[in-house]
Amino acid sequence: MKEISCKLLVVGAGPGGYVCAIRAGQLGVDTVIVEAKKPGGTCLTIGCIPSKALIHAAEEFEAARLAAAGKSAVGITLAEPAIDLAKTMAWKDRIVGRLTTGVSGLLKKANVKSIHGHARFRDGKTVEVETETGTQLVRAETVVIATGSVAVELPHLPFGGAVISSTEALSLTAVPESLAVVGAGYIGLELGTAFAKLGSRVTVVEAMDRILPLYDAELSRPVAKRLAALGVDVILGAKASGLASKGGALVVEAADGATREIAAEKVLVAVGRRPAVQGWGLEELDLDRAGPFIRIDDRCRTSMRGVYAIGDVTGEPMLAHRAMTQGEMVAEIVAGNRRSWDKRCIPAVCFTDPEIVSVGLSPDEAKAGGREIRVGQFPFSANGRAMTRHGEDGFVRVVARADSNLVIGIQAVGQGVSELSAGFALAIEMGARLEDIAGTIHAHPTLGEAVQEAALKALGQALHI
Ligand code: FAD
Ligand code: NAD
Repeated sequence: MKEISCKLLVVGAGPGGYVCAIRAGQLGVDTVIVEAKKPGGTCLTIGCIPSKALIHAAEEFEAARLAAAGKSAVGITLAEPAIDLAKTMAWKDRIVGRLTTGVSGLLKKANVKSIHGHARFRDGKTVEVETETGTQLVRAETVVIATGSVAVELPHLPFGGAVISSTEALSLTAVPESLAVVGAGYIGLELGTAFAKLGSRVTVVEAMDRILPLYDAELSRPVAKRLAALGVDVILGAKASGLASKGGALVVEAADGATREIAAEKVLVAVGRRPAVQGWGLEELDLDRAGPFIRIDDRCRTSMRGVYAIGDVTGEPMLAHRAMTQGEMVAEIVAGNRRSWDKRCIPAVCFTDPEIVSVGLSPDEAKAGGREIRVGQFPFSANGRAMTRHGEDGFVRVVARADSNLVIGIQAVGQGVSELSAGFALAIEMGARLEDIAGTIHAHPTLGEAVQEAALKALGQALHI
């Protein structure tokens, strides 16, 4: 058995692991990273990037279909368009390929040794990797567990055949005539909307009494309205209980016990993700758990000395930028720098139609924490740029402390608002007050002006409403 030693071993090359390894390598730490599949992990290969590629293709196709139906608001006419989903997927795969190759290149440039294979812990300092050329033993002073997460499977709807997870949905080569989606969260609504635009008849089944229960009702309302306009049937307060024995329709059970069947060519189950804690020797380690996740402290240290954990395997929010930030921090710590988690906010973006952004506290969360707050909300219907983009539904909302005007939350719903998220996070991270946002010149005409106006409104000085 081949054997190597290193200072730092990172298991998993998703956004958490690869960022950790790159920064460690840049800081001169002798680093090895092990990945069983492709560098980039869930995010680059089967998550964030492929889904956004599909969403973009679906938006373009929908605009063309509207034009062909004589419904283009901007006066474009077209003959009936068609989509070749196999070509769309090939385009998506080329983007993924460029990004995963890019990650490999960055790891190499930072002098990180990459091993392709499945890692299994023998103990907290030793890992066996099954590679194509045999088993390799890696001994390390410090290890980082960055194994990520996997889709939750429903016992009565196991994946296989017509029942698919987001991974298979992002590899379909033909648009299903009908699609039933179980779960109206991030994945269910991002992909459900995309397939509705591509021409599938989509039905969404959600256990809670509203869509996107993670966000407040005011933010999710424009999304619900748009789903209705796209012809998506949303069944709330209901659970999928399996496939009918005859015909394979999805059986849905309402809260009162009534059942109904939904005929669907494919059933996308998107009811959450769980940490990847099986199959790599967790039982050989003595790690405390926080529910299903690995428990960490504010430096991503686990309960074992020299063992860190980052990303989805450590808990919510399971977002790529949280994993990356943790990875970068751990690399700095391993290199001897004093770092701990000191972030004021982790932005969340839902790439539905319209998009939702939430950074910091919502008004309800702030009030629940006992704070006196000031809220300013500005609608996109009064924003020139939103009108010229034909995306007037939605608003920007700024939440500030009533005593100091310190901004503690900014949320928005509207077309294209994902790109505003950086400014929202910057304002909160830098401790902006309402006056700072209101007093910053925002270029005209842009969606960003709505942020300035929301701050002005909270100060009682709105100009355009
Ligand atoms: P992962 O990206 O899951 O990477 C873990 C890696 O570890 C994998 O490559 C795996 O193969 C490897 N691994 C596991 N065990 C072993 C082992 N024993 N040996 C070797 N390798 C191993 N987040 C966002 O912020 N924005 C989005 O728009 C977004 N969209 C998403 C869309 C979809 C469809 C999905 C499924 C997720 C999306 N996410 C999004 C979530 C995001 O993908 C995750 O939060 C992120 O990938 C977590 O990074 P990670 O490094 O913790 O783990
Ligand atoms: P989710 O937690 O966002 O949504 C799951 C939904 O399924 C919830 O609304 C829940 O109430 C519902 N549900 C649960 N069990 C059900 C059942 N038996 N029947 C009907 N409904 C049921 O989970 P997801 O959409 O699978 O996404 C997983 C994770 O991936 C997200 O939490 C997020 O961390 C990440 N993600 C992020 C993005 C983004 O940042 N834009 C996009 C996709 C995924």
